[in-house]
Amino acid sequence: MTTTTTVLQAPAASAPFEVATVELRDLRDDDVLIEIAYAGICHSDIHTVREEWGSKQFPITPGHEIAGIVRAVGAGVTRHQVGDRVGVGCMVDSCGECTWCKDGFEQYCEKGAVFTYASTGYDGEYTRGGYAQAIVVSERFTVRIPEGIDLDVAAPLLCAGITTYSPLRRWNVQPGQRVAVVGLGGLGHMGVKIAVAMGAEVTVISRSLAKAADSAALGASAHLASSDADAMTAAAGSFDLVLNTVSADIDMEAYLKLVKPRGVLVNVGLPSQRYAFRPGLLVGPSKVFAGSNIGGIPETQEMLDFCAAHGIGAQIETISADEVTQAYDKVVAGDVRYRYVIDTATLTR
Ligand code: NAP
Ligand code: ZN
Repeated sequence: MTTTTTVLQAPAASAPFEVATVELRDLRDDDVLIEIAYAGICHSDIHTVREEWGSKQFPITPGHEIAGIVRAVGAGVTRHQVGDRVGVGCMVDSCGECTWCKDGFEQYCEKGAVFTYASTGYDGEYTRGGYAQAIVVSERFTVRIPEGIDLDVAAPLLCAGITTYSPLRRWNVQPGQRVAVVGLGGLGHMGVKIAVAMGAEVTVISRSLAKAADSAALGASAHLASSDADAMTAAAGSFDLVLNTVSADIDMEAYLKLVKPRGVLVNVGLPSQRYAFRPGLLVGPSKVFAGSNIGGIPETQEMLDFCAAHGIGAQIETISADEVTQAYDKVVAGDVRYRYVIDTATLTR
């Protein structure tokens, strides 16, 4: 029997979203069928469908911040049962055999991880993401959402949560350390919450002071406007770790100057232009300029358990399927507090 589902898809680059009915694959032994409850809108979805990262095959159903309920399981599934609360993030397959996969870093799979949408699977099928009522995914790429986190505020953790948690862990953020988060958007606000929960003293660096009250509410102890040259100069050399989440082109030198000697600037923002900085800014004070790419499946589960233990979910605005096209413009304009989450029950033909 063929199973179909309703999805939202971009028919062409930057075209308005439309509703479509698509077929889901028959369950393989390790597959679960998930009824999606909520899907977050990540800025990467926008970069992708607007072809800011290169040309793509259309139509595209984006969405890699997926939270829902297992409705059916393949014959060999052991990790999940019908009724389980689960999430799916940015990846849906990897070889499972290379050292990266074996160590739980599926994002670096030597064969190439298959991404949740707009990616060609090992079976040749073009993947479709979470702006949909259902998805079929291998249980290897499905994580458990702890009872303490509601599905709507859990959805953004599957990308924004893990993408900020992973570098904060890797660079071993400790209680009392000073962390700056650049850009208070979907990733940035999660970075603040998680760094605060790790015991860091957190400063938000935003374009203006407009979000200062929000920074305080998220647990940050300070909020700096990057447009305030005096404040930026006063903050020079004062952070153990600076996490850049900005989706647009920025003057990287201004942020490198904020890092303490031997400290690190971790970049997770993915604008399409080059960053430029003089090497001396790194060499003299022995600073590190680092990148970080989402997180593997074991670490994604660890992040969800950490968030549940600390009572952390995303701060969201729930929207219906017919508001997604407009929501993209609002995200680009910085007009979201702090993640749009699509209620997929509103997806009707
Ligand atoms: P978002 O919600 O749009 O937030 C980006 C923030 O950047 C905005 O809230 C804004 O903060 C700041 N910003 C936007 N335009 C700016 C400009 N022209 N100049 C200076 N600051 C600007 O985006 P997101 O979903 O958090 O994603 C952020 C970036 O991370 C995107 O490039 C995305 O593709 C990337 N990403 C990377 C990974 C990874 O694995 N490395 C994973 C997911 C996403 P203020 O208003 O506070 O200034
Ligand atoms: Zn994302």
